[in-house]
Amino acid sequence: RLSERRDVGAAKGEGDTTMAANKKLLILPGDGIGVEVMGEVRRVIDWMGKKRRLSFDIAEDKVGGAAIDAHGTPLTDEAMAKAQGVDAVLFGAVGGPKWDSLPFAQKPERGLLRLRKEMELFANLRPAIVFDALVDASTLKPEVVKGLDIMILRELTGGVYFGTPRGIETLPDGQRRGINTQVYTTNEIRRVAAVAFELARKRKNRVCSAEKANVMESGVLWREEVTRLHQESYQDVELTHMYADNCAMQLLRNPRQFDVIVTDNLFGDILSDEAAMLTGSLGMLPSASLGAADSSGRRKALYEPVHGSAPDIAGQGLANPVAALMSFAMALRYSFDLAEDADLVEEAVRKTLDKGIRTGDIAGPGTVEKVGTKGMGDAVLGQLTALAG
Ligand code: NAD
Repeated sequence: RLSERRDVGAAKGEGDTTMAANKKLLILPGDGIGVEVMGEVRRVIDWMGKKRRLSFDIAEDKVGGAAIDAHGTPLTDEAMAKAQGVDAVLFGAVGGPKWDSLPFAQKPERGLLRLRKEMELFANLRPAIVFDALVDASTLKPEVVKGLDIMILRELTGGVYFGTPRGIETLPDGQRRGINTQVYTTNEIRRVAAVAFELARKRKNRVCSAEKANVMESGVLWREEVTRLHQESYQDVELTHMYADNCAMQLLRNPRQFDVIVTDNLFGDILSDEAAMLTGSLGMLPSASLGAADSSGRRKALYEPVHGSAPDIAGQGLANPVAALMSFAMALRYSFDLAEDADLVEEAVRKTLDKGIRTGDIAGPGTVEKVGTKGMGDAVLGQLTALAG
């Protein structure tokens, strides 16, 4: 199971909540529209507290440019320690023109990289969901993407982005040579494959593992280890293998054939962006990054919209909060094992879109009312109340 924790007292409508350990959240809104969209997440959390009797301990801190301005660093040690101690970090977005000229090591993005590194978040979950109401936002034909709901699971801390030797060297004849090394160990492969199988059990029970075992030894090892783990512990899940280049083609040809795709850091970087674009808008895309399970089954976890801080629309109340709200739904599902509440948030978003309520980024055919960030939050809260209030 992805989340073994059972907060018995948190069961809805069952009276005694005194035994419940509060769910600990750290909210890091960051910069630009990160702040705006996290404001709407906060309202949904408050709604959950009141109407679903879910009690959260919420801490908030600065990250990115906001932390640079306040403390001279994109993430303080105190904020890092808080992130290590909570059940889930909800992250907005970082960056903006104000900090663009800083040296690389001091940029806002370093705050996010530090969180990922020190929390050892090795499993990056990128769902690609096409809502019926937005089926025309995709560049693919509606009959290809209608009803799409797949999950790309990318290994995030290993592979060619981190392998050594790496660098650029000058050869005796004066040519230069750039070097990166693709490396994976048994454990790195098995732990991400285990997450894929666990995820599949909560979905349609199918995993497709993508590598290049035809031309890369690391791919051969990947395929062998995924197969071995499957035989040992997950025979109830359907497992297939695909070369990553074919997977890229199949994602465009017939994306609905997939449920969970698990792949390495490099291929996952590319395939997850490809899958994202099957769905249309950046403002709709959530993500989660998970670490290893501790002895109680708790995984460190960070949830964030895929989009950035969008300086072009920041401060104007125009940002679409859906990616952030869907990221919070992922936190409910994967960190707190609250599938019913996660479904509720997703259903409220779906119903809001069905009614034709749209922010500017997704305002296309079928728009009945164009709203801003807060208007979208209001509409989702209204649907939540209609569904469960
Ligand atoms: P971006 O995702 O911020 O914006 C790209 C385009 O999509 C913009 O036109 C923006 O207005 C639009 N957009 C994005 N999210 C939206 C939303 N929720 N609602 C409506 N429209 C939305 O990417 P960018 O412009 O390349 O980068 C801007 C800044 O964000 C840079 O400083 C970059 O480094 C940073 N960034 C941060 C993250 C992160 O925090 N994880 C990710 C990507 C980029």
